[in-house]
Amino acid sequence: MVVNDLGPGDEVIVPSLSFIATANAVRYVGATPIFADVDLATGNLTVETVDAVRTPRTRAIIAVHQGGVPFDTVGLRKAAEGWGVALVEDAACAAGSTAYGQPAGTGAAIAAWSFHPRKVLTTGEGGMVTVDDPTLAARLRRLREHGMNVSAADRHASAQPVLEAYLETAYNYRMTDIQAAVGLVQLGRLAGLVTQRRELAANYQRLLSGIDGLVPVKDPAHGQTNYQSFWVLINPEYRTGRDDVLAELAKRGVSARRGIMASHLEPAYADVTPGPLPVTDRITRDSLILPLHHKVTEDDQRYIVNILRELA
Ligand SMILES: *Cc1c(COP(=O)(O)O)cnc(C)c1O
Repeated sequence: MVVNDLGPGDEVIVPSLSFIATANAVRYVGATPIFADVDLATGNLTVETVDAVRTPRTRAIIAVHQGGVPFDTVGLRKAAEGWGVALVEDAACAAGSTAYGQPAGTGAAIAAWSFHPRKVLTTGEGGMVTVDDPTLAARLRRLREHGMNVSAADRHASAQPVLEAYLETAYNYRMTDIQAAVGLVQLGRLAGLVTQRRELAANYQRLLSGIDGLVPVKDPAHGQTNYQSFWVLINPEYRTGRDDVLAELAKRGVSARRGIMASHLEPAYADVTPGPLPVTDRITRDSLILPLHHKVTEDDQRYIVNILRELA
């Protein structure tokens, strides 16, 4: 948002259905997040849901690859360009996902990544921004390091004294070298991790297919998810409500979670009155996330799905 030169009076369209960090990024620069609804199958913004809340003050869109499910990059990038609005991609969940046959983030003007432990590729904490423009990359490197015009590494490597200058008010957003070393090893393992997650997801989908009223997440037509989050939408014909399903699973030793949060329902955004967000409300109320990690076995999956079948 800083490098998009946004501030008070500017509107940025974001999905409410996202981890709250997406909306917070807008507020950090004093701009106004405008919540758009999402598509029921993918949990993502679409050209239509964005267009529905667009105004003359719209300066940017932050589109999320929610839970790893890629949004329609070609469609949204083209629409944003046509509207003259910046498109920032929240790829926090999307390491190892693909869109139109390319790794998520390919061709993005700006994509933001998270290496939090919850994500498929983790360094403990930290993240990354990728851009397609060297000038922008240089500014981001500077913003990361208190606005210094020469990096500390370059300064200390120089045989000559280097007097640095501070070009703008900036931040300490440095990642440590130790974390980066972990991340590089993780990067080498990413393809294998995603393959394993996709096999486990396919097994869940097979096991769940016989249960009426449960709709597991799947690949959209335009890409593949890394299944960072394997969520299941509960339809009305299913007999047990989401919170009761979570309680029963917990009682039987299964650590499932509520589905993706909706930022507009949180106290931090109580002062915002968005337009109707029926799909967002539906997904956040009626979905849950099943355990999917490298130690989940097929026996675990059968045990979990058997409980869900009993509750149907
Ligand atoms: C995890 C996540 C973030 C935040 O990542 P941090 O590393 O905690 O800053 C932002 N957006 C989405 C969609 C996320 O899932």
